[in-house]
Amino acid sequence: MIIVSACLAGVCCRYDGKATEIPAIKKLVDDSQAVIVCPEELGGLSTPRLKSERIMAADGEFKVVNEEGEDVTSYFIEGAEKVLEIAQEIEAEFILLKSKSPSCGSHRIYDGTFTGRLIDGQGVCAQILREAGYKVMNEKEFEVGGDTNENHPHF
Ligand code: SF4
Repeated sequence: MIIVSACLAGVCCRYDGKATEIPAIKKLVDDSQAVIVCPEELGGLSTPRLKSERIMAADGEFKVVNEEGEDVTSYFIEGAEKVLEIAQEIEAEFILLKSKSPSCGSHRIYDGTFTGRLIDGQGVCAQILREAGYKVMNEKEFEVGGDTNENHPHF
């Protein structure tokens, strides 16, 4: 059993109320091979919601703020911890998360300026899962055969 970002399976849980469905990932869910999660909804945020971005400090500390400057870090951490609990409960083999999201991004995320600029980094949920020892990949790695190698920084 694996865990997948709910928006990749067609659930309209993105900040803008839309999904980013990938049919092959939806099929995994339909075939009972995957469990869907949306860490931002699990953390208590509603859909649609304001766009948020993660801001990293040089010392490794971070926060997540929305477009109006509100600190929403606690929602992101709570959601990520709930996903970790689910992963442990179902003994997930690996985790398949949506790229570039402040929760789910696994290699590149927006830089916190809301200008569309991407930087190397990962979302809060991807980080917490990796720190717990889980393999995390994004939809593009899944489509090219499940390579979780970190040498693909632009995924
Ligand atoms: Fe998709 Fe993850 Fe964003 Fe939820 S938090 S909408 S699962 S990318």
